[in-house]
Amino acid sequence: MDCLFCKIAAGEIPSTKVFENDDVYAFLDIAPQAPFHAVIIPKKHIKCADEITPENSGIIAKIFEAIAIISKEQGLENGYRIVNNCGEDGGQTVGHLHFHMLGRRALAWPPG
Ligand code: AMP
Ligand code: ZN
Repeated sequence: MDCLFCKIAAGEIPSTKVFENDDVYAFLDIAPQAPFHAVIIPKKHIKCADEITPENSGIIAKIFEAIAIISKEQGLENGYRIVNNCGEDGGQTVGHLHFHMLGRRALAWPPG
């Protein structure tokens, strides 16, 4: 499958790793929107949030366990934001489920 994030998770395309375990990979975003901007992905391909089912939803817990570890490792005790863009109106540009983790600056709310 021709998927950018599958290739990043497999190490076929280089990335700056911030976390990895058997199920989850996290790396720095190439176009950071905050001083800390990581992308957290399941290693197994899932297209978007719409494809979460009772069979595969365990990966969401694993991703958020990873986020809690990354937060402590990166010293984000002042807070951060998790964003998931789903589909065209959500602004998703890479069709492999991912969560943005943005921190080290105060973030406006609501988003545009
Ligand atoms: P989204 O727009 O929610 O689909 O997010 C995709 C994100 O992937 C964007 O923030 C891009 O900057 C980021 N991105 C695209 N290509 C790469 C890459 N090769 N390495 C790291 N981040 C990337
Ligand atoms: Zn993929």
